[in-house]
Amino acid sequence: MASGSAIVTDSRLGESALRSLVDGLALIDNQGQVAFWNPRAETLLIWTADEMRGLRVNEMIERVAGRVSAPDAVRAELAAAFLPEAAETTIDIDLLPGADHSNRIVQVHVFPLCDPNGSQIGTGILLRDVTRERESDAMKSQLLSTVSHELRTPLASIKGFATTLLRQDVKWDEATERDFLRIIDDETDRLAEIIDNLLDMSQIEAGALRISKEPTQLRQLIREAVDEMRMRTEAHYFVVDLPAELPRVLIDPRRIRQVLHNLIGNAIKYSKGGQISVACEVEGDHVVVSVSDQGDGIPAQFLDKVFERFFQIDGASTRRVGGSGLGLAISRGIVEAHGGKIWVESTVGQGSTFRFTLPLATNEATE
Ligand code: ADP
Repeated sequence: MASGSAIVTDSRLGESALRSLVDGLALIDNQGQVAFWNPRAETLLIWTADEMRGLRVNEMIERVAGRVSAPDAVRAELAAAFLPEAAETTIDIDLLPGADHSNRIVQVHVFPLCDPNGSQIGTGILLRDVTRERESDAMKSQLLSTVSHELRTPLASIKGFATTLLRQDVKWDEATERDFLRIIDDETDRLAEIIDNLLDMSQIEAGALRISKEPTQLRQLIREAVDEMRMRTEAHYFVVDLPAELPRVLIDPRRIRQVLHNLIGNAIKYSKGGQISVACEVEGDHVVVSVSDQGDGIPAQFLDKVFERFFQIDGASTRRVGGSGLGLAISRGIVEAHGGKIWVESTVGQGSTFRFTLPLATNEATE
């Protein structure tokens, strides 16, 4: 009697453990029918236990194949995993976005269920949401490819000019020598900039970006940033439009200068010439800073995407103008760390306006 009730309790415990697993779990019985479908499997694949129970394996595979981006491959892989005597199999399935979720990657692990004598009595399926892991894997390989592509170009140029200068069989005149040294100097700056960007990005990703805020005069900061960037272009003219009274903002001046450099740098890179205007307006408890250009513009479908790390509208041509796709992602990280927002409005062929908000320093007298 006592041992009987212990068994009942054990199997209840067992079942509730299976139901509460953080992973999705489905069990297929020896007749090849779905016998168990836990709540997590319901959320991951959106079919309830009631509709799944009793379904044959082939019908289940068809349902899954109907929801993925590569149905033929998934159908074949799953069918092979359920063959008698098949070894344990792990498959990643890429679920098409549904009404309730965006793209989701689920890892499906199929394994035999055996009794204590080792004979197979069914098949288990573990389902795990690996979307974030896969995104982070993709981010790492993107990082590696960017590092190798982007670092190689300036490095090759530094090496080339240094080797040229070291040649003993050629005597360069002083002007040429200075030209070569200047290129080495510029390319070294570019290398340092890429490395700084990568470090900033990894700090933002880790939520570890250090911001030391102080009440700051935006007028001066904007003027300085524009003056520094003005030197980098002869094709553009700059217009700075600031209100007569501009209260101080509570910011990390070094970081906000970096945002302005990124935005003005992009305005220069992505427009052949014309006006670049930097303006600022006070709205309630914050200011809105804007940087506008008369350049290529950004198609509507990319207006949010440009703030994603490594995103470039046209990889080949942006690489030519020296970009790594990190500037705007870093700018967004910095602005958000200040409690602000950043966005862009644009008309293709006419130009773009990037705007970001910054908090006013409270109880500060206006300038
Ligand atoms: P990048 O280093 O490539 O410039 P960013 O993160 O700064 O990286 O920008 C991402 C992409 O957004 C750029 O590659 C470019 O395609 C687009 N972009 C950014 N700023 C502008 C702009 N002012 N005008 C048009 N396109 C822009």
